[in-house]
Formats: sequence, structure tokens, C-alpha cells
Amino acid sequence: MLEIRGLHSGYGKIEALHGIDLDVPEGEIVSLIGANGAGKTTLLMTICGRPAATRGSIRFNGRDITRLRTHEIAALGIAHAPEGRRIFPRMSVLENLQMGAILCDPSHFAEDLDDVLTLFPRLRERISQRGGTLSGGEQQMLAIARALMSRPRLLLLDEPSLGLAPLVTKQLFGNILRINRERKMTILLVEQNAFQALRLADHAHIIVNGRIEISGPGAALLNDPAVRAAYLEGIRPQAEVMP
Ligand code: ATP
Repeated sequence: MLEIRGLHSGYGKIEALHGIDLDVPEGEIVSLIGANGAGKTTLLMTICGRPAATRGSIRFNGRDITRLRTHEIAALGIAHAPEGRRIFPRMSVLENLQMGAILCDPSHFAEDLDDVLTLFPRLRERISQRGGTLSGGEQQMLAIARALMSRPRLLLLDEPSLGLAPLVTKQLFGNILRINRERKMTILLVEQNAFQALRLADHAHIIVNGRIEISGPGAALLNDPAVRAAYLEGIRPQAEVMP
């Protein structure tokens, strides 16, 4: 579904990605893990057109989207739930969800709204509350729900577990798995929580200083001694979320 080849990107004179090759096959969860500053967020943002790629190509369902503008990329069915829970803080939960659906045919709004509120019942309880007053976990749910309201074909999730308590993280990863399995949603997941991200992933990639260093099935990386030593040291198995 998504094919990235030789991708370079950055901010002015600072190059953050130095030739990324990555595929996201339809229906899969693909996880991207790496340390702070490795380039994970930059990769998701470059897929969305800002910052623009300086070299290389991004193809989505066979179409070259490398030079498209952000709104054109969104209109093709790529939704980005950004890191830091960047919801609209002064808008209510409902208004945030309406913003997510802004490019969609209004005739299926009610059905889609019911759908995401069934997935995240907490948001139904908080429907009139301002986004900025939600808890961290609720804001993260809202960011994902807002992205789903655009009926995407590919969902880009940036650090959904950032700053969340272990129990909330567990519920959130359970929901990500449901979105993938029940809705057949293709997901590119960026995470620092390497254990959870590898458990969930069909395929995973480890990014180091703007380059993909290790790739493989999530389960294989989970058992790779080098990966375990670098990313999973000290993580205890009770953090598991898989059914
Ligand atoms: P984290 O896990 O800490 O969020 P990350 O892997 O998502 O890290 P990026 O945010 O993509 O990393 O950053 C990659 C590199 O690009 C870093 O060296 C960072 O300092 C730099 N960078 C990110 N945003 C900007 C910006 N707006 N201007 C200049 N440099 C930036």
C-alpha cells in the first residue's frame, strides 16, 4: 500500500532522514521503533508532505505522492494521529470529531460517529467536554478517533502511548489491534514502547539516526538478541497486551 524508497528529508540544512526504504503492506500493522531523535516523527510528517522529501519517493497504492500537498495526501486516505495529542483544545470532543470528518461525505457522519464512540466509549461520556480538559489517555483516544473519522485507508499513529499509565496504554494498544483486525485498517505505528510495538506488528523496523538498521517480522525482532539488548532490556513480560 505504501512504498518508500531512498527517502531523504529534514529541516532546512538539517537532514533527519538519510535514505529510508520501507513498505507498509495492505492490512498490516507496521511498527517503527527507535530512540529519541532517530527520525520517527519526521518520517510520518514527510509521508504527509511536510516537511517535503528532498530525495527519494513515496508511493501510495501505486501513485507517486512525494510532491503532493498535505491536504491532497489526506484526501487520498492517509490520516495522521500526531504525537503530543494535538487535538483542538478549545473545541469539544464532538467538534474535534467533526473536524476529522471535514473532507468526508456528511451523509455517513452519524454512522461513523457512532462507530468511533463505540470503539472509545469514554469519548461518548465526554462528548461535550473541551478537548483540552480531557486526561492524557482520553486526548490520545480523541486523536485516534478524529483520524478515523476521515475514513482513512492508512492510519499513521505517532507515539500513541506517550505519557500514559500502563493500564491505559494496555487498553489503547488493545484498541489499535481491534482497529486493525476488525476494520482491516492498515497502520504505520511509531512507538518508543518497543515491546508493545513489536508484539503488535506484522513487520517492524528499527530506525537509528535517520536510517533503517534492522527490519523483519515483529515476532522475530522481539526475539533478536541485538534488539532485545538495545531496546527491550529490563522490560518485563507482564506488560503484554495481546489476547
Ligand atoms: P522522539 O522519539 O524524541 O519524538 P523522533 O524519532 O520522532 O524522536 P524526530 O522528531 O523525527 O525524531 O527528529 C529527528 C531529528 O530532526 C532530530 O535530530 C531533531 O532534532 C530534528 N528535528 C525535528 N524537528 C525539527 C525542526 N522543526 N527543526 C529542526 N530540526 C528538527
